[in-house]
Amino acid sequence: MNEEHNSRIVATSRVRRAQLRVHVIRWFFLAMLGLSTCAYAGHPWRVVILPGADPTQPAAQEQIRAVRSSIAAVAPDGVEFYTDALDDLRFDSAELMPSFLALMRKKYENTRVDVVIGLADFALDFTKRYHNEIWPGVPVVISSVTDAREKDIPPEFAFVPLRLDLDGTLQLAEALQPHARHLVVVSGVAKLDLRFARRAVDAARARKSRPWAVDVWSGLTVSELQQRLATLDRDTAVLYTTMYRDRTGRTFFPYELVAPMAKASSVPIYGWYPTYLGHGLAAGSVISFEKNGRLTGGLAASILLGKVVPRGATTAASASQCAADAGAIERLGLRAGDLPANCELINVPPSLWREYRAIVLITVAVVLLQALTIAALLWQRRHRQIAEDKATLRLAELARAGRFALAGELSASIAHEVGQPLGAILSNADAAGMMLSNQPEVSEVHLILADIRRDALRANQVVQRLRALLQKHTLLLGPLDLNETFDEALALLGLESRRRNIFIDPNLSAENALVLGDRVQLQQVLLNLAINAMDAMENTPPGDRILSISTRVSEHGYELTVADRGHGISPEAGARLFDSLYTTKPHGMGLGLSIVRTIVESHGGRVSAAAREGGGSVFTVWLPPAAERAVLRAGPELDNAAGKATFEASLTTQGGHP
Ligand code: ADP
Repeated sequence: MNEEHNSRIVATSRVRRAQLRVHVIRWFFLAMLGLSTCAYAGHPWRVVILPGADPTQPAAQEQIRAVRSSIAAVAPDGVEFYTDALDDLRFDSAELMPSFLALMRKKYENTRVDVVIGLADFALDFTKRYHNEIWPGVPVVISSVTDAREKDIPPEFAFVPLRLDLDGTLQLAEALQPHARHLVVVSGVAKLDLRFARRAVDAARARKSRPWAVDVWSGLTVSELQQRLATLDRDTAVLYTTMYRDRTGRTFFPYELVAPMAKASSVPIYGWYPTYLGHGLAAGSVISFEKNGRLTGGLAASILLGKVVPRGATTAASASQCAADAGAIERLGLRAGDLPANCELINVPPSLWREYRAIVLITVAVVLLQALTIAALLWQRRHRQIAEDKATLRLAELARAGRFALAGELSASIAHEVGQPLGAILSNADAAGMMLSNQPEVSEVHLILADIRRDALRANQVVQRLRALLQKHTLLLGPLDLNETFDEALALLGLESRRRNIFIDPNLSAENALVLGDRVQLQQVLLNLAINAMDAMENTPPGDRILSISTRVSEHGYELTVADRGHGISPEAGARLFDSLYTTKPHGMGLGLSIVRTIVESHGGRVSAAAREGGGSVFTVWLPPAAERAVLRAGPELDNAAGKATFEASLTTQGGHP
């Protein structure tokens, strides 16, 4: 039992010692690593970059620039970069390798390097085999090796993965060409070209969304390629991988072939390298060499700063991004709208909208505002016109109503006036009859007939004037002699004044009183004012019942004055006289003076009322002369001519002829 127990204790302590040894070794290793990486603190870092292909290729340049800048950004004492390239893709590396190796050994014999960065497949193969010979113990970072070769990377190397998005690129082809079923994979015959071609074929065949029939064209010369591309039908998509070398041995930078291919091809060419864009590539889910370079530089810097252990260190792969050539897509009759929303478009045809969006928006806004303003002004003008038309119509209606009211007031005197000549006609006719039954005196009969004619004319004139006054009437502006116009109205007033026992004292003395106006309406002004004056003198003693009506030249115009010896205007009435519906009379309508004011103002004049010295009131109407009105009126001369013609026509119909 004891022996067994003792042997167990010995075994346990052995295990513990072994564990301790492992720990010590691990710590020693880490300490050495720290020392080796930090040994050069205070000296510039020495970084060897091994591009797998020609370092002047745009892709390699972009990547190396990003590597260098991200390391330099954090190096405490600066960096010395050494770039050594063996263009494996275009030269036979097996043949050149011994010489290259000898050169590299010699070159770095006495130079202590801190980190080696290998870019692409050749660098991986080279460092894997020779880094211990050239840079023993120096950490290695491998980048730009596709995920398919991840398994070949030695565990002690650090690694930045590069994921080519073949699926994403094929997905774009499927989106842009919904009917395409034929895929042509174009590649060269260099090792890498063929590897990519194989991957492209596998990716296309694995697509579930589209049963692609795949053809591979490897290593065709440029002219062969162009000839074949020209014959492809529209439902074909071309996936260009790389062409470092064609079947004749001619070498290229792969991007150099994109332009001649695109020139000959009537179908879109897809690819996953950003360096193909701008040369005719239609679209692709492209990698970013710049991002990859930054990740690589960042990982190398972390190793140099001792933050990361190089063995097996890695980063996330930089994501690919959809990019498309809008010009190429348009030229091929495809729709950029079929691309994903986040797809970056290059070579977008210049458009006014894109280039000058702000200016275009401002211009459109200004034009819209202008259009709106114009529309609003037109609308306003139209409505004003409608309102004006309505107002004119209402004025005409109102004026007619006023004339009816006047006619009502005058009817008694009219009946009297018409009755007189009719009675005379009757007695004349009786006398003539009697004469004819006895001994007819021909000369007597002539006299009787002349009397009948005169009386009939008188009766007819009264009736005509009344008809003219009551007729439906639209505003007819024309040159008028004010005195003549008012004279005609006075003829109507004469009857009423006699009935009311009022003496009219006319004094129409304004010389050449020519105004531009409507005869009937101006007559209505005088009639309204005169009837009001007569009303006001209802209680005036008979001797004082004098109505003075006069015209005179005043202030470059003409003035009509209607003065009475009536009850005068009370202060309360004075403020509201011209308001419509204001009346102090038991049966008044309160429209007379408001009609007067409207008519006068529509003739460009003004009207006022005042108390008359010695009792009564005086109403004064001022009207502008015809010449001034013609200038004031907005209408062209034609308007005046038309007005005159209408005026003359109205004279003919209202002239009192039977
Ligand atoms: P209405 O004659 O129907 O009353 P008007 O508008 O013609 O309507 O007159 C309004 C009012 O003005 C009259 O009711 C009256 O009080 C006053 N008015 C008008 N003319 C005179 C006048 N010559 N003298 C005194 N008051 C007057």
